[in-house]
Amino acid sequence: MPPLLLLIPHLLLIPIIFSCHVTLARHAPETTAWRSFSHLVDTERGSHVSGLSELKQYFARFGYLHMPDPKNLTDSFDDRFESAVNLYQNRLSLPVTGKLDAATLTQIMSPRCGISDFTSTPGKLHKVQHFAFFPGEPRWNQPGPFELTYAISPTATINYLSHDEVRAVFSRAFSRWAQVIPVRFFEAEDYQSANVKIGFYQGDHGDGEPFDGVLGILAHGFSPQSGRLHLDAAETWSVDFSKEKSSVAVDLESVATHEIGHVLGLAHSPVKDAVMYPSLSPRSKKFDLSMDDVQGVQMLYGSRPGFTFSELMESEKSSAGTWSYHGWWGFSRGLWLAVLGVFVKTVFL
Ligand SMILES: [Zn+2]
Ligand SMILES: [Zn+2]
Repeated sequence: MPPLLLLIPHLLLIPIIFSCHVTLARHAPETTAWRSFSHLVDTERGSHVSGLSELKQYFARFGYLHMPDPKNLTDSFDDRFESAVNLYQNRLSLPVTGKLDAATLTQIMSPRCGISDFTSTPGKLHKVQHFAFFPGEPRWNQPGPFELTYAISPTATINYLSHDEVRAVFSRAFSRWAQVIPVRFFEAEDYQSANVKIGFYQGDHGDGEPFDGVLGILAHGFSPQSGRLHLDAAETWSVDFSKEKSSVAVDLESVATHEIGHVLGLAHSPVKDAVMYPSLSPRSKKFDLSMDDVQGVQMLYGSRPGFTFSELMESEKSSAGTWSYHGWWGFSRGLWLAVLGVFVKTVFL
């Protein structure tokens, strides 16, 4: 066979490899909010960089910087701002460098919950800070058998998911918490009378906590006994990543589980695996309760009779049948690198 013909099968691989990369690039997370912070990478104390004042506003928004005069912000990386960076890194379990290194900026630009990281008091049992509560440790305090009702707004909706799809997601999310505490959750027929009221809202929606469009702030859940759980209607909410291909799709079940944690009285946790960690990447899932989430919520409500951690682990194992975005990418990257390796070896060696 002429040498050129031998090359044809290998040449056919080239468009496949490139098309693979095109597909993956489409799925790369694109943070629309806070993306402008990316040029601040590697700034440190003593720097003066345009745009730093906006990052100061971000830090103030989430409780890391107290600003007496928010209109008079400078772009100087001063001692106070360095302390705020240290505090942020500590709180989000990042290496504490005091600089805006790449890991810190990536975390800052990640989509996250709108609840401040400092409306909290640490759980008393822990010497090392993990789960946390809202100030005063508010919790629901129902008489008799502990039952809470919830309802999804019939009007504050999104049009690409059906009411039943959203109901199914929240039913699963509530049942995760009900598995570990002696509280039962029922869907109310009447929205107005429900303890927990869930809805999708856009921009400024009247509670002083405006949403900000695609990514950025994803949702917020208010402390007990408010019962308000709001999701940013501007997000591309997904109940199935195999059908929702958008690179900025957000897993509704993961965010629902997190916000229910707030509705029950948990604040943010610095434990990265915890459902109550404040951020969630697009196209990723995190809804299995961690030990930290369970210990926190059981401090408020006690343990469900008969509950054991091994039972929780078993049920989580059986529900973990789907590929996460990172899992799939890790597998796919390995496969394509192997194909590329064979191609290079055969053609050039
Ligand atoms: Zn939150
Ligand atoms: Zn709201």
